[in-house]
Amino acid sequence: MRPNDTARTWVHDAITRLEQEAARSADTHLLKLDIARFPGIDFYFKDESSHPTGSLKHRLARSLFLYALCNGRLQEGQSVMDASSGSTAISEAWFARLLGLKFTAVMPDCTTPRKISVLQALGAECDLVPAGVDASQHARASAAAQSACYLDQFGLAERATDWRGNNNIAESILSQMQKESNPVPAWIVCGAGTGGTSATIGRYLRYRRLPTRLCVAEPLDGAFAQAWQTRTITETKPCNTLIEGIGRSHVEPGFLFDVVDKVIEVGDADSCAAAWLLEQLLGRRYGGSSGTNLIACLQLAEAMRDRGETGSIVSLLCDRGERYEQTLFDRQWLAKHGIGLEPSLEQLRRRIESPDLKSS
Ligand SMILES: *Cc1c(COP(=O)(O)O)cnc(C)c1O
Repeated sequence: MRPNDTARTWVHDAITRLEQEAARSADTHLLKLDIARFPGIDFYFKDESSHPTGSLKHRLARSLFLYALCNGRLQEGQSVMDASSGSTAISEAWFARLLGLKFTAVMPDCTTPRKISVLQALGAECDLVPAGVDASQHARASAAAQSACYLDQFGLAERATDWRGNNNIAESILSQMQKESNPVPAWIVCGAGTGGTSATIGRYLRYRRLPTRLCVAEPLDGAFAQAWQTRTITETKPCNTLIEGIGRSHVEPGFLFDVVDKVIEVGDADSCAAAWLLEQLLGRRYGGSSGTNLIACLQLAEAMRDRGETGSIVSLLCDRGERYEQTLFDRQWLAKHGIGLEPSLEQLRRRIESPDLKSS
């Protein structure tokens, strides 16, 4: 065999391993939630925490590896690198191990300790950069210096996913809704980190010619919220959110503003309280960005109720709450970061409980 043939054989084998992994994986659950205060409005949450690597980044990592392989950018023995606040890195490290490749995660040094230990257990190296250093630029430069493959989640998320289907998240949601009383959602709500999820959902809704609108749930001052108004990539003020995975300080290349119908900004105290509330409603812990989504869903549902509309609202549970035991689910940590949990939680409970329940 020519050297080129051997190289191609490894690539083919790697793609086969990714296909086998996809075939072994089940789809994630779409959980239905009845909220007393909203008769006639059905809430659904797609549980992306049930992927083997615990977050919606499992889909992205699978797509990024496949994209790198099919573009001839990833060869046998090459190491792999990406910049990530944690969730993407965990999924990428898992897939790197599946393919027998070395993986390095470039992350801000404030990343949850739990995420770092999970990464190390997966055999990944963590390259922690101090605040003020652009992790993506650092990762790109260091990958180039070592001839490593830079997976580039922020640059490629929007195009690595098959937007026309192939069981992407949007196709999966709509097929799981088929037997529901309101199978075509009034709204789908998601966050924006790379912007990959909102891009995929927004495109797919148009492709399927559905009237469903797409809402992005953002922390206060998130770059998506700031730039969505004008649809321009201007300098944005920094976003100092405690919510991981969303709330970017810059407009990312994957932010497709034109497919988003509405952006709702949510304060961190409300997002944290909503994450606590989700545990009470669903019996399991989910991360902060799932809480941000819940608040946006409630705001949309309140507007629908005020207009006398009924229908369904679908959103995502983005990652597992166990990752935040030492942060969002630690009252002392919250207090240290200026979050008064109880008032927000109390207010939130009033928004979801039916008035007659409250008086009893
Ligand atoms: C990445 C991420 C998001 C946002 O998804 P994108 O597709 O990257 O925009 C939301 N929540 C969590 C926990 C994430 O890791």
